[in-house]
Amino acid sequence: MSAAFPPLREELRGIEPYGAPQLSLEQAPVQLNVNENPYGPSPEAAADIARAVGAAAVSLNRYPDREFVELRSALAAYLNGSGGSGITPEMVWAANGSNEVMLQLLQAFGGPGRVALSFAPTYSMYPEYARDSLTEWYAGHRAEDFSLDLDAARRLVEERRPAVVLLPSPNNPTGTALPHDAVTVLCEAASSYESGGLVVVDEAYGEFRRAGTPSALELLPRHRNLVVTRTMSKAFALAGARVGYLAADPAVCDAIRVVRLPYHLSAVTQATALAALRHAPELLGRVDDLRAERDATVTWLRGQGFEVADSDANFVLFGRFADRHAVWQGLVDRGVLIRETGPEGWLRVSIGTAGEMTAFRHALLDTVGQAAGQTVGQTTGKTEERA
Ligand SMILES: *Cc1c(COP(=O)(O)O)cnc(C)c1O
Repeated sequence: MSAAFPPLREELRGIEPYGAPQLSLEQAPVQLNVNENPYGPSPEAAADIARAVGAAAVSLNRYPDREFVELRSALAAYLNGSGGSGITPEMVWAANGSNEVMLQLLQAFGGPGRVALSFAPTYSMYPEYARDSLTEWYAGHRAEDFSLDLDAARRLVEERRPAVVLLPSPNNPTGTALPHDAVTVLCEAASSYESGGLVVVDEAYGEFRRAGTPSALELLPRHRNLVVTRTMSKAFALAGARVGYLAADPAVCDAIRVVRLPYHLSAVTQATALAALRHAPELLGRVDDLRAERDATVTWLRGQGFEVADSDANFVLFGRFADRHAVWQGLVDRGVLIRETGPEGWLRVSIGTAGEMTAFRHALLDTVGQAAGQTVGQTTGKTEERA
């Protein structure tokens, strides 16, 4: 008899690690697949980050500040200028990417016998946090236009009694932002049962929202069970540094301290994030250009007859294709990498530089033109089943 090797948890056997296909720049010079900011830090910002990391390097023999007090203060100040008000350092928590922040939330507030709930289509990492923290996962559904049916959402929360509701706003992969009403309904529903639940509004793309679209940060003073997460990976152009954070009641931050690994945020990461925050206006300086490019992309795609979801993010979901994989492949063959994600028939393109978007438009027309009359073309009003 031979022992199973490696002795992996039963439910993890055969599962592929999460991740978008990564192609080299030679294979796909135009990379519009993981919602990165196409504009890197300025030479000044990069030099300041390097100086800060250099200063931290001389004391790398010591563990970093476990409570990262200076960073929490700087993040609180940033949030108070970005939709929040009255946010104090005790209300802020950070980790290596908002993915880690949300995993920590499920480690602290999920677990066996508890439910984490979202509304599909939603961020594909959420069920993984649930699986890894032994939390039961449940996904309700969004409406046809990807908004939330508030009555149905309230009923579902009251019925399932989740310990954690996870919702991106703007949503990935659809770009849909939640109005204040929706957040309020969810927060009230999640405090209507005795065990109570947290409502986590994942604002990874918050800085890209259109004028007039609110941030859930504004509702923090009203709902004790509301948690708003943000990241430096998208608008901040700092995906490589791995810094994400949240704002919530101080009791939520305190509880996370129980499950976080000791010194989880390295001295290098803390120094990098602090230096980046000093350059916030500059790092965020291209956000308005990207928002304009996003709106232009939506208009152009609609003009070409595609179906396009309204977007408050730095990506656009469009379709629908009878064979979306063939369209995705056609674009790759023309050097443009986008993402095959979302409900069947749809594709998602991240907003790049003006030049990259021109390349995308040409490659798309070329691909779809080539396939006209074949199965690759757009479907005609056929409603597909949502994943
Ligand atoms: C990109 C993204 C994040 C950010 O992840 P990081 O770990 O902070 O890089 C979080 N939520 C959603 C929905 C995202 O698309």
